[in-house]
Amino acid sequence: MIGCDCDTCRSTDPRDKRRRPSVYLETDDARAILVDAGPDFRAQALTHKLRRIDALLFTHGHSDHILGIDELRRFNVLQRGPISCYADPLTLFDIRRMFAYVFDPSTPRGGGLPQLELFTIAGPFCVGRQEVVPVPLVHGTRPILGFRFDGFAYLTDCSGIPEGSWDLLHDLDVLVLDALRDKPHPTHFSIAEAVDAARRINAHRTYFTHMTHDLPHERTCARLPDTMALSHDGLVLEL
Ligand SMILES: [Zn+2]
Ligand SMILES: [Zn+2]
Ligand SMILES: [Zn+2]
Repeated sequence: MIGCDCDTCRSTDPRDKRRRPSVYLETDDARAILVDAGPDFRAQALTHKLRRIDALLFTHGHSDHILGIDELRRFNVLQRGPISCYADPLTLFDIRRMFAYVFDPSTPRGGGLPQLELFTIAGPFCVGRQEVVPVPLVHGTRPILGFRFDGFAYLTDCSGIPEGSWDLLHDLDVLVLDALRDKPHPTHFSIAEAVDAARRINAHRTYFTHMTHDLPHERTCARLPDTMALSHDGLVLEL
């Protein structure tokens, strides 16, 4: 956190250095799927040497998940075409509003604008051969989306899982789930709430994400159930 001297912020453990939440998937048929592009997207793309995005999925339109959109220009150049973006209607509305200059035909083109092709998510869809199942979640009062890819589910920014969504979460190998801090919060699961939800979902392995500096990596992992841990930047999973 900016201007903070707490143990987590001063930690020398690289797992305590956290950029905004996002995941990048490489599928069996060599497609690349990015979920969310926040304000750290450029630094993340450089660190992890991203070269391609076949589909960009947005969970919701909060700034920590969409502010990297302008950086997609480089991928337009590399791929010689627009980037396919998928989101629910409310999120597409937020993207069009927050990036109005991208969609305004009177914006001078000279400086370079990200080229996006927007698709509305209305149910499960495919990227290449990879099926993507949207999982409705509640983020405070706002309905947002998590995503399931076969045995992997990514559920960030949630304070509740609607009744109809539990059935979409059976038989997971890996679950990534929001867990902000210990103290309850109106729009995110606390650790206790996330552990309860993770127990009910019962994935083989659960990683928490979107933590604040209230949760130092090592000490927090030590008090979690055996099948659960905090995720960290650069975590790579093979499924
Ligand atoms: Zn701190
Ligand atoms: Zn959010
Ligand atoms: Zn967020």
